[in-house]
Amino acid sequence: MNTLIHTDVAIIGAGSAGLYALREVRRAGRDFMLIDRGPLGTTCARVGCMPSKLALHAGSEWALRKTLPTLGVDGIDGLSIDLNTTWTQLRAQRDFFANSGASKARAAAGDKLIEGSARFLEPTLLEVRSANGTQRIRARAVVIATGSRPVVPGWLDDLRDRTVTTDELFELESLPSSIGILGLGAIGLEMGLALSRLGVRVVGVDLAHNVAGIVDPVIGEQTHHRFSKEMTLWLGTQAQVLRAETGVILRTEHRETEVERVLAALGRRPNIDGLNLASAGFPLNERGLPIFSQLTMQIGDLPVYIAGDANADAPLMHEAADEGAIAGYNAAREAPTAFWRKVSLGIAFSNPDVVTVGTRFDALPKEGVIIGTASGDKNGRARILGATDSVLRIYADATDGRLLGAAMIAHGGEHLAHLLAWAIQRGETAHALLEMPFYHPVIEEMLQTALQDLVTQLTPTNDYPLGLVPTSAHLSLKSTD
Ligand SMILES: Cc1cc2nc3c(=O)[nH]c(=O)nc-3n(C[C@H](O)[C@H](O)[C@H](O)COP(=O)(O)OP(=O)(O)OC[C@H]3O[C@@H](n4cnc5c(N)ncnc54)[C@H](O)[C@@H]3O)c2cc1C
Repeated sequence: MNTLIHTDVAIIGAGSAGLYALREVRRAGRDFMLIDRGPLGTTCARVGCMPSKLALHAGSEWALRKTLPTLGVDGIDGLSIDLNTTWTQLRAQRDFFANSGASKARAAAGDKLIEGSARFLEPTLLEVRSANGTQRIRARAVVIATGSRPVVPGWLDDLRDRTVTTDELFELESLPSSIGILGLGAIGLEMGLALSRLGVRVVGVDLAHNVAGIVDPVIGEQTHHRFSKEMTLWLGTQAQVLRAETGVILRTEHRETEVERVLAALGRRPNIDGLNLASAGFPLNERGLPIFSQLTMQIGDLPVYIAGDANADAPLMHEAADEGAIAGYNAAREAPTAFWRKVSLGIAFSNPDVVTVGTRFDALPKEGVIIGTASGDKNGRARILGATDSVLRIYADATDGRLLGAAMIAHGGEHLAHLLAWAIQRGETAHALLEMPFYHPVIEEMLQTALQDLVTQLTPTNDYPLGLVPTSAHLSLKSTD
């Protein structure tokens, strides 16, 4: 059967970006077709954000026992963990999230959902292969939201039976007793720590000198120092990965170890290679990626929009959601609208979390920037929580103290990250933020300390106590609202 369906908007991919696009297309009252080759449930829920955070939570809970003797607890050596049960529980909780993602797609699309694989014949003509045969869809506009998949380089081909990706890790029936993590970006770091806290011996290797993509040298060094207490880190080096009798040998010039398996956490590739983009007439860059606008999501001047991991720009769930919404909004209208994009935010839930907010250290202007620092050993709450190795660095404009960005390794970093991102996006200055209340004793006082450090580097504009504003100034501010 080779039928031709006409519709307003065809959305390829029912992941996070695709479902946000669908929401906008439905809101605009347009006809649509949603195509997904499966499995439904979104990468975030099935094999991404959610199972990885469940693993980290389990790891942290189990590792907590090691701190108990300091409180006088005896007998922790008698505790044991059944990792098969841990992983089964993880899958059960993960299934809740994934099933709700799949149900959402089915409920929102109804009989407009085709479970099949799409490719382009022309920019607005798709061929979809499914169990029911081949269909063609002619759409006025198309949203590409096909996501990404883990990279498994050719040099791992001989070891594929001993290599897992994050698509497979959570499905393992039993966890290995040792694992090599190849690639220590946010995903590799998170999985390495989760497994090591659950008792797996972990060796992490990365060509980069820092983990989690951190470029701030101070935070990078602290991160290395902190996490090498929990797993072996081979940074700034490339390891040979060789087949051993039963496991895998990792070897560098000076080091060698054998592990049972390796996790390939070497990045993710956008799922666009099977879409036939070049032949269908899409403008592509030298890497074969569609040339698109980050403000409209439009590819060239075609009525086609690309959102989420598929465009390889910012492969994060909240970015996929915004991009999907922009793509869906524009696909449902005659002319695209450019949308202002939010301050960037990257969090590795490594506990202490590794965070980058706003302008990265390597993108700061060479001059005219001041840095405010706070460390956990001087924060009361961090001391109570055993988080003295937290470090926060905030970057600000040296002329007016306007916040530009921040990097940190911090207990509760996920929360500090949001406060800072919101402040940066609002154009706040160090002075203005210090006018906000800070309770005691809280981790947020690290923010207060770093802001105070910034203010001491700025030329004073008045002699009021730090963080306090006279009522006269406050009222006059209000009256100009
Ligand atoms: C281990 C891990 C941990 C992560 N942790 C976080 C985190 O903590 N925070 C965060 O923000 N992000 C995290 N991410 C990233 C986040 O999961 C992704 O950025 C997000 O899920 C991308 O959504 P998407 O809609 O672009 O893609 P997806 O959800 O993958 O959706 C793409 C869909 O397209 C379908 N598809 C592909 N090709 C075709 C085709 N030709 N025809 C039809 N259908 C097709 C697929 O079946 C899929 O359903 C993590 C990722 C991983 C792997």
